[in-house]
Amino acid sequence: MLKTWFNIPLWQRVIGALILGVIVGRLWGPDATSIKIIGDVFIAFIKMLVVPLIFFSLVAGVASIGDLRKLGSVGWRALLLFVVSGQLAVWLGLALGTFVAPGAGVDTSAIQMGAVPEPNETTFNDMILGMIPQSPVQVMADVNVLPLIVFSLLIGIGILMAKEDGEPVLKIFESGSVVMQKVTMIVMELTPFGVFALMAWVAGTLGFDALQALGTLVFLNYLGCFLIIGLIYGSMIKFIARLPVIDFFRGIVDAMAVSYSTASSNATLPVTLRCAERNLGISNSVASFVISLGATINMNGTAMYLGLATLFGAQIFGVDLSWGDYLLISILGTLGAVGAAGIPGAGLIMMALVFGAVGVPLETIAFVAGVDRIMDMMRTTTNVSGDAAVATTVAALTNEIDRAEMISADDV
Ligand code: ASP
Repeated sequence: MLKTWFNIPLWQRVIGALILGVIVGRLWGPDATSIKIIGDVFIAFIKMLVVPLIFFSLVAGVASIGDLRKLGSVGWRALLLFVVSGQLAVWLGLALGTFVAPGAGVDTSAIQMGAVPEPNETTFNDMILGMIPQSPVQVMADVNVLPLIVFSLLIGIGILMAKEDGEPVLKIFESGSVVMQKVTMIVMELTPFGVFALMAWVAGTLGFDALQALGTLVFLNYLGCFLIIGLIYGSMIKFIARLPVIDFFRGIVDAMAVSYSTASSNATLPVTLRCAERNLGISNSVASFVISLGATINMNGTAMYLGLATLFGAQIFGVDLSWGDYLLISILGTLGAVGAAGIPGAGLIMMALVFGAVGVPLETIAFVAGVDRIMDMMRTTTNVSGDAAVATTVAALTNEIDRAEMISADDV
C-alpha cells in the first residue's frame, strides 16, 4: 500500500488532498478545526526550513554565479519584472473595482464586522533600517527574511571576491545546500496531509453569510488573480522566456497548492524553490536569488487586491476618488505589496496604508476581515506563482535553465 502511495506523483497526491479536504470540511463543519493541528505541524516543519535553506542556497547560489557582472544581470532583470508585473496587477485591481463596482449597493448591516488589525507604524526610515542585518544571528532567530537575504548576498559576494581563499567556505555552503534540499524532500512528503487538514479547516469554518454579502468582492479577487496568473505570467513564460506555458504550470502545482492552503509566501518558499530547481530546471543560483527575494517583495496578488479593496471601501462609504487618487493608490498599492510580509493576512494590514492616504475609512478592513482568508489564499497563490514565473523568465534570458529538464519532468 505504501508503495502505491509513493508511486503516485506528489502533485497528484497534493491536489487530491486539497479536493478531499474541502469535501470533508463542508460535511464536518466547524468541528473540522480539530484536525487543523496536522496543518499547523506541516507549516511548522516548512518554516523550520526557511532560514537554513535561504542561507545555504543563496550564498552557494550567488558564489557559484561566478562573477559580479552576471549577478547584476540577473538582479536588474528580476527587479524590472517585479516592478512591471506589480504595476499591471494594481491597475487591473483598479479597473475591476471601477467597472464592476463591487461596493455599490452593499448592505453593510448584513456583514459581521471582524477586528481591524493594528496597522504597524513603520516609517520609510524604519523599513530601510530593517533591511540591514545588524545582528545576523538575531535575524535568523526572528526568521526575518529580507535582512537575511542581504546578509547571504554579502557573504556570497565576499566568497566571489576572495577567489581561491574563499573556496573552502564555498564548499561548506554548497554541501549545506544539497543537504537542505534533501531535508526539504522529506518535509514535502507531509504536504498532502497538511494541505488536507488546512483545507478541511477553512471549508468547515468559512463564514457563508459574510461570503454572500461580499460575494462580488471575493469573486473579483479570484478573477483578478486568475487573470494575473493566466495573462501576465502566461505571457511572460510564452513570449519572454519562450517556454511551454503548460509545462511551467505543471511544474509549480505543488507550490500553488501549498500557497493556497497555507496563505503564506514565506511558508511556501522551500516548496517554490524545490519546484523551480527540480521541476523547472532553473539553476540553483538564479532560483535561490530570485525566489527568496520575490517571496518577500514580489506580491502581485496583494497589489491587485489593494487596488480593488480601496475602490470597494470608497464605494461603500461614498468617497469620491480623483485620477490623482488612482495614481496614489497604484504607487502605494505596489509599495504596500513590497512591504507586506509573506504571512497570512499581511495584505489586510497593508490596506491601512493605502486607505489612509486617499481617505477611505479603516472600517472597510473590518468588513472584509471575515472573508479575508479565502481571498488571501488566492492572493498568495498568485504571489508565489509570480516568483516562479519571474525566476523562470530571468533564468531563460540568462541561460540558467535546463530546458530539457523542464519539459521532461514527468514525475513532478
Ligand atoms: N498572505 C500573502 C502572502 O503571504 C500576503 C497577503 O496577505 O496578501 O503572500
